[in-house]
Amino acid sequence: MNSTLIRRVAVVLGLALLACACWLAAGALSDRMVQQEMSATVRAERQMAASIVDNMAQIIASDLAMSRAIPATLAQMDLTQHALSQSRHYASKAPVTESERRAEWMARPAFGTVNAFLHDAQGFSGLDSIWLVNDQGFCIASSNADDENSFIGFDMSSRSYVSRALLGGFVEMYGVGRLSGEPGIFIAAPVYEDGFLVGAVIAKVSIDRLRHWVSRTGTFVTDENGVVVMAHDGRLEYEALPNAPVTKMSTHDRMDHYRREVFPELHVARMGEQIRAAAHWLPPALADTFYSANGSAVPALYDERTGLNSGLSAHIVHPLTGWPELTRNHSRDRILVFLTMLGVVALAMVIATSYSRERRLHRATRDLAEQLQSANTLLSAEARHDALTGALSRRYFLDTLRREVDLARAAGTPLSVAIADLDHFKEINDRFGHASGDRALEHFVEVCRAQLRPSDAIGRLGGEEFGLLLPQTALADAQAVLDRLRRRFHHEHCAHLPEEAALSVSIGITELAEGDAMEWMLSRADLALYEAKSRGRDRTEVRPADPAPPARRAENSFAGK
Ligand code: GH3
Ligand code: MG
Ligand code: MG
Repeated sequence: MNSTLIRRVAVVLGLALLACACWLAAGALSDRMVQQEMSATVRAERQMAASIVDNMAQIIASDLAMSRAIPATLAQMDLTQHALSQSRHYASKAPVTESERRAEWMARPAFGTVNAFLHDAQGFSGLDSIWLVNDQGFCIASSNADDENSFIGFDMSSRSYVSRALLGGFVEMYGVGRLSGEPGIFIAAPVYEDGFLVGAVIAKVSIDRLRHWVSRTGTFVTDENGVVVMAHDGRLEYEALPNAPVTKMSTHDRMDHYRREVFPELHVARMGEQIRAAAHWLPPALADTFYSANGSAVPALYDERTGLNSGLSAHIVHPLTGWPELTRNHSRDRILVFLTMLGVVALAMVIATSYSRERRLHRATRDLAEQLQSANTLLSAEARHDALTGALSRRYFLDTLRREVDLARAAGTPLSVAIADLDHFKEINDRFGHASGDRALEHFVEVCRAQLRPSDAIGRLGGEEFGLLLPQTALADAQAVLDRLRRRFHHEHCAHLPEEAALSVSIGITELAEGDAMEWMLSRADLALYEAKSRGRDRTEVRPADPAPPARRAENSFAGK
């Protein structure tokens, strides 16, 4: 595997890891999002469920208060009290059968009046029926006296609401009519005459009249024995809450009270683990408040109000209808968050890459600029100096000369300039080789440096010809210095040349005069050099300033070189 392949594999693995991290982070984030959404939904739904059961409790209380008022009022009336005390007197005389009792009481005009009154009272009160039971437990009058199935003449003492009323209690309880088989709420008020209990007024409100209590979905009402006595979903009726008192009642009591024996258990249970398995993101505290009803997969909230009138309790199983959508949202949110994260990561990578690329480019540009700068410095140093001898280049020497001329003219100080040309140099080259010639040139510059001041300048004008510039030096002083230099060059042997190699130099010297030009000075120095050559070489010649510009030697021209 080459390094490029390894790098590629590493990049792919890194990206896969990053994607995995994003996926996990997206999961955690979408969990949080859906948890918040779910908490808000549950809060709203719980409030809704609570307000429904509160409303049920209020309606039950107000309905029963109205119904209760009728028997209570009737119990206070002379008509009722009188009829009941009379019946007691009568019944104690001679025991008879139900039908005989009925016939007797129906025949009495006073009871007829009572029956008519009860009939009217039932009519305007909205109750199903009202009847009077004397202290023996016999029904003596009824709102439906004309009905063949009326209770008149019946011994009702075994009904628990009757027996309890005849003990002086106000009773409200759910029960199923023995004759009608109709369930309803039985309300009983004891009746007293002159301080003696003479019987009771009983009223019945049929459950059918109270169906509006469970008009909302999921609502149901249980009685004091935990039996569902009415439910929005009619299938729940006569089911019993888990561990309800009805399960502990004897069969006889159940039959007596409900006309039935079997009470299937109501299936409302906490979902707990079941819902956590379906939605792992659900916080346990929230999951524990979820119920399942009748095996439905949609979780529901449960609320109840117990201990209402007549021993009733109001309940609601409120399904979370938004549950499927919320669970769908969870998957959708996770994908959305994942894609957003990938986008952010990709953007961050692009920014980081372009930033580092820009930094690299910046560094490279800066390095290049530095290299360019040092190359320029080198170039300009090379342009200023002759590569072989280290003397100033011709151009730079002439520039220096021009500057010094201006300075000397401004300061009024003397300035001398000379041109030195090595004698018979061609011979040196020819005899000892070009390399030896180069050493001789280097040697001449070394001698110049040794003999001249640091403020003096040495420039190579070309070949073996050098310009010497001596600022603040008059012509005579310049000649003395340069003559000493010439002698030194002649006598000081160059270590890099053979013993027999003899070196000498001819020097033409001049000085700056008033109204002089740089070119004129150089021409005069050139002429002086020519004189030195003509007069036998290895000598210095001076040429003071002429009144007129000197003529140039034909072979030498400084202008434009
Ligand atoms: P004169 O005394 O009249 O000046 O004679 P000369 O031989 O010195 O003069 P000429 O002008 O005839 O020869 C100059 C020689 O200098 C010719 C050339 O080959 C040589 N020369 C010029 N530049 C260099 C250089 O850089 N190195 C070497 N070794 N020789 C050079
Ligand atoms: Mg020459
Ligand atoms: Mg020469």
